[in-house]
Amino acid sequence: MASTTQVTIVGSSNVDITALMNRLPGPGETVLADSYRLTPGGKGANQALAAALAGARTEFIGAVGNDPHAEIALGQLAEAGVALDRVKHIEGATGVAIISVDAKAENSIAVISGANSSMEAAAVTAAGALEGVLVLQGEIPESGIRAAIDAATGPIVLNLAPVIDLDRDYLCRANPLVVNEHEAALILAQLEGSKELSTDPEPVIAQRLCDEGIASVVITLGGEGALVAVRGTDGAAEITTLPAVKVTAVDTTGAGDAFTGALAARLAAGETLIEAAGFAGRFAALTVQEHGAQASYPRSLNNL
Ligand code: ATP
Repeated sequence: MASTTQVTIVGSSNVDITALMNRLPGPGETVLADSYRLTPGGKGANQALAAALAGARTEFIGAVGNDPHAEIALGQLAEAGVALDRVKHIEGATGVAIISVDAKAENSIAVISGANSSMEAAAVTAAGALEGVLVLQGEIPESGIRAAIDAATGPIVLNLAPVIDLDRDYLCRANPLVVNEHEAALILAQLEGSKELSTDPEPVIAQRLCDEGIASVVITLGGEGALVAVRGTDGAAEITTLPAVKVTAVDTTGAGDAFTGALAARLAAGETLIEAAGFAGRFAALTVQEHGAQASYPRSLNNL
């Protein structure tokens, strides 16, 4: 049984086309960019790489096109030993994110879903059983997310980013829900049927998410660290705050994905949610000290 998958990630993979320029163009304007790079991205692929580098036997299930971008999108995953046998190769384009970054590191991003939009329920169901800890994000169609939850055989780590409408019954299968503070407020509004975003402090938002029926919640707080809430038998959430490791951040792109993938890997290894989130915070802190998303993920766990 040594080859049993510990973490299965169903989600998006993209190529990020990043153009570096002095300032972002306004509507109707053309500016000359200094340079560009093509790098692998997409939340699903980023999290799969992080889970594998954090030590889990990992499978990624997603879709790419039949264009040259497919190889770039999956290259790092293949190198890290992520199982890719159930990735669909469809006629058409691999997902692409077109990212413009100015001299102040402000950015504007347009995402073309491409093959990721083919990850509807039928495609996910056709993949078959999903082993181990299942990790999901909001970058594939909602029907595909529901189908994956239905096919889960283990705990579900739901990183609902971007936040999309998902039925309460499915949202409440998350254990944990992993989101940043903004996403947490959006999901709470969705569950409570409110048009207003709560301005409550994060521990209160976490408690209210638990009140709505979610068993555990992790809210990531950027340079402030993360907060873990676990609903007790009496309904009260036990809240633990995990301060961030103090580092000099140069680029936080993909930090949330690094955190989620590493968290899933440690849950699969049998750690408690608080232990796994502590590791994920240390793992993510390493990534913010390097440029890029997947390129910044640590290839060795020696400093953890
Ligand atoms: P993104 O969408 O940019 O990946 P996110 O909003 O999903 O980000 P963040 O909350 O920004 O995720 O970051 C995830 C985790 O990464 C944090 O909980 C923290 O552990 C770590 N982290 C982020 N920024 C820093 C920082 N400046 N210093 C140390 N750790 C950081």
